[in-house]
Amino acid sequence: MTLDSKKISKDFPILKIKVHGKPFVYLDSAATSQKPKVVIEAISRYYKEYNANVHRGLYKISEQATHEYEKAHETVARFINAHMEEVVFTRNTTESINLLAHQLLPNFPPGSEIILTPMEHHSNLVPWITLAKRYHQVVRYIPLHPDGTLDLTTYQHMLGPKTKIVALTHASNVLGTVNPVEEITQWAHQHGALVIVDAAQSVPHMPVDVQKMDCDFMAFSSHKMLGPTGIGVLYGKKELLEKMEPFLYGGGMIREVTYENATWNELPWKFEAGTPNIADGIAFGEAIRYLQKIGMSKIQKHEQELTKYAMQKLGKIAGITVYGPDASKRIGVISFNLSGTHPHDIATLMDKQGIAIRAGHHCTMPLHKSLGMQSTCRVSFYLYNTTKEVDALCEALEKVRKVFAREESW
Ligand code: PMP
Repeated sequence: MTLDSKKISKDFPILKIKVHGKPFVYLDSAATSQKPKVVIEAISRYYKEYNANVHRGLYKISEQATHEYEKAHETVARFINAHMEEVVFTRNTTESINLLAHQLLPNFPPGSEIILTPMEHHSNLVPWITLAKRYHQVVRYIPLHPDGTLDLTTYQHMLGPKTKIVALTHASNVLGTVNPVEEITQWAHQHGALVIVDAAQSVPHMPVDVQKMDCDFMAFSSHKMLGPTGIGVLYGKKELLEKMEPFLYGGGMIREVTYENATWNELPWKFEAGTPNIADGIAFGEAIRYLQKIGMSKIQKHEQELTKYAMQKLGKIAGITVYGPDASKRIGVISFNLSGTHPHDIATLMDKQGIAIRAGHHCTMPLHKSLGMQSTCRVSFYLYNTTKEVDALCEALEKVRKVFAREESW
């Protein structure tokens, strides 16, 4: 294996706990990742040593808080090859996408088209369908091939003068599919459309370079990449963020205010109204430094190895159907069903073995419906997962299969 995950897992205090008396096996990092000690300590250090508001105080600890909070923006910017002015901190991916939908759609005439994919998480679907209705615009979907990849030939024919926005996930949180966003962006730009990338499942797991990708906006969440909850990122090309109206008005985001008028602060602060989530923003920077020390290419390779291993092992369990493309085309996310067994029953029985997996629609109800299902089981990997944990999962699943086939009792 590319990474020594056993050694890495020692940096994560929670991975030492026992669940139902069993060693804890965490296979739900696509929902949220666990946090290393350095991140937890960064939060506590802020509150213990320099808790003060940012951008306002002229005293030492306020200056320190400001410096650390701004440094976190710089760290994020460098991580995705952007400029600091282009990195806005929000609460999460969902808020970043809502901000875009609210600020962009009113600029386009009725009948304008927004292109999405059928594999979007509700957070890159519900804002578009809801606001498109308000502005009498049309949402269209790129069809999927049976293996869960996008039909790019049809996509090229869908593009036209009415296309204003193409918003898609870089990596699916259900099928694991990694979409070719660079190509998709190039084609969209030929028609003058803006491209918005939901990178919630890609930025945490692979090198992502926004300049190479050339997307116009991108959204992701700190909590899925070893950082705290309550911090997300909206990346936008500088010239586009400069043109866009602020989403929230108030303190921190202004340059000059009279009783009649206000002008806006420089980027990115124009989009960060009110006191921000300082502690978590600073700790997010620490999470990125931790990831960088290990290396995103190595993390990606490790997860690909684990995914390939897991897909081979799962394929040997009778009655298991795995959804999505082969291991070479996906991130470390595997959704599956075991015939004759409800995903919730499987997840509950896995929990009894100390194994945390997810069961449900994973915030992709339309995708599940189109695959003829209500729910699936999902396992997802990160840098701290090992092949031994995959073995534990497969052994437990084999046991569940036997219990439901009445070959064994629990
Ligand atoms: N997009 C994708 C692809 C996701 O997997 C998720 C989280 N499951 C989100 C968006 C939403 O992220 P958040 O809840 O942090 O806003």
